[in-house]
Amino acid sequence: MKYSKLAELYEQLDNTTKRLEKTHILSEFLKEVPADDIDKVVLLAGGKVFPPWDERKIGFASKMVLKALETATGLSKDLIEKSLKKTGDLGATAEDLIGKKHQRTLFSSELTVSKVFENIRKLATIEGLGSVDVKVKLVAELLTSAKPNEARYIIRTVLEDLRVGLGEGTIRDAIVWSVFGKEIGLDYDKKLNNVAFPEKNRDRYNHFLEIVQNAYDVANDFSIVAKAAKKSGEKGLAEIEFEVGRPVKVMLAQKVADFNEGFERVETPAAIEYKYDGFRIQVHRNRDKIMLYTRRLENVTHQFPDVVEAIKENTQNASFILDSEAVGYNPKTKKYRPFQDVSQRIKRKYDIEKTAKEFPVELNVFDILYYNNKTTIKTPFEERRKLIEKIVKPKKWAIVLAEQIITESKTDAEKFYRQSLNAGNEGVMMKNLKAPYKPGSRVGFMIKLKPTMKELDLVIVGGEWGSGKRAGWLSSFTLACLDEDSGEYMEVGKVGTGIKEKEEEGVSFEQLTQMLKKHVISEKGKEVKIKPEIVVEVTYEEIQKSPTYNSGYALRFPRVRRLRDDRSPEEVSTLQMVEEYFNEQKKR
Ligand code: AMP
Repeated sequence: MKYSKLAELYEQLDNTTKRLEKTHILSEFLKEVPADDIDKVVLLAGGKVFPPWDERKIGFASKMVLKALETATGLSKDLIEKSLKKTGDLGATAEDLIGKKHQRTLFSSELTVSKVFENIRKLATIEGLGSVDVKVKLVAELLTSAKPNEARYIIRTVLEDLRVGLGEGTIRDAIVWSVFGKEIGLDYDKKLNNVAFPEKNRDRYNHFLEIVQNAYDVANDFSIVAKAAKKSGEKGLAEIEFEVGRPVKVMLAQKVADFNEGFERVETPAAIEYKYDGFRIQVHRNRDKIMLYTRRLENVTHQFPDVVEAIKENTQNASFILDSEAVGYNPKTKKYRPFQDVSQRIKRKYDIEKTAKEFPVELNVFDILYYNNKTTIKTPFEERRKLIEKIVKPKKWAIVLAEQIITESKTDAEKFYRQSLNAGNEGVMMKNLKAPYKPGSRVGFMIKLKPTMKELDLVIVGGEWGSGKRAGWLSSFTLACLDEDSGEYMEVGKVGTGIKEKEEEGVSFEQLTQMLKKHVISEKGKEVKIKPEIVVEVTYEEIQKSPTYNSGYALRFPRVRRLRDDRSPEEVSTLQMVEEYFNEQKKR
């Protein structure tokens, strides 16, 4: 398939902000995509070349884009920078310059989707000495053959900043519409921006939505889902299975203020468990092969040889995927330590064994997703728990089951809650005994209850260079939440408070500046735009409606509490949460 077709799709998507229209545009497009290209197209449409669980990173900086443009157009650096000043956007500059070049030459060959996909994928595999040159060359090669609009989208893709507003929900719906739309008589009316089908087909429609979503929950990769659906419809989707070694998105928790609300959400009787203050670990085992992933789906097997050993020794020699929380403890006093104390282990590259001894962790297993070639996510939680009890042989300070009671009594629940806090935990989790496991979603099957005020996890998307004693550092940071509908990040405020002058005191300006510098997309005067990568936990006094930020909300007196490097930008608080908190606030 020609890449120009995909560029046309991007343009159409860019031309509307309406979610239904975007779904329609994508679904019509998917119908025409040949089966061999569908996997690539679906990833590229979402601005990606790897599925969300894949750790490979494109790693192409804005400086490299400038170089690639120099190589591809033969234009001077000055001219390129001048164009960038004018457009303020590297994608637009690429379009502008490639357009200029084409006034003089004809493009050499037509780009295909495969070629673009392969070249961008290759970027992730190149490392070490001279890698910058090789990477620049790969992108320049694409730009040389690109038409102006193609250049724009190639650049946005390599910068991982495509912004055509296709969230996961939209991609899922488009797959449903494209494959099953005809069967249910689905019709999209552009004028009314309305989708309709005969009422008698509603159940069928919901059924198709569900099977595509379920397939995605398992595959964690729309390219697998789209391909299976296109090739063999419902049957193909049902055949998708978990694979040991392909991490799954974890189920997320909702939050409640008290037990009344909690019991209402998860129904009674409910399981109540300690909420450990550690970090999530997804355990994959296939006999002798054991792998560990964080909630961001990073492979951290290498960092936790002690955990691997604990699993090898104390679980059934079978194949399974477990969900758990690793909690640090003090090896001398045998007391739990807060997450911050052991978080360094996650990124550690050297002295692994030594650090493991100094900062040991205990694995608290609380769920199971897969057992001996069978998916267990549809099995009710109470049975999944029984399965874990069968698989894990608890050994204190190595691997145990999450402490749990089953109750419908508020008094018992409150007693357990205090007991959990006294043991050094964060609070409790409440779980619906009959519920399935829903990867990646914040459904109310799992609820957290802890004694703090509501905080938000937000991603930094911009900043401002400081002056005076903060010269050389970014000193103000633009915060954004995630709009689940569009997949876009929406700004909710700026923060400078809570960040420390010195590293010893917490997150410092210098540390944040170092982390963010790598992700700068563009600069204008003192203002910088930053790729959404770094997540911070933020408290605030109040949420206000505000026209200042594109989310429509602003945080009053935001304060950074800590870095959330265990969270990926996809996992930040959503716009829908901000709205919900705003509404709750009004009620108070
Ligand atoms: P939060 O990170 O505040 O959204 O709280 C949810 C997190 O609590 C989960 O992602 C887990 O990492 C952690 N957690 C600790 N103990 C448990 C437990 N017993 N069950 C589920 N999650 C737990």
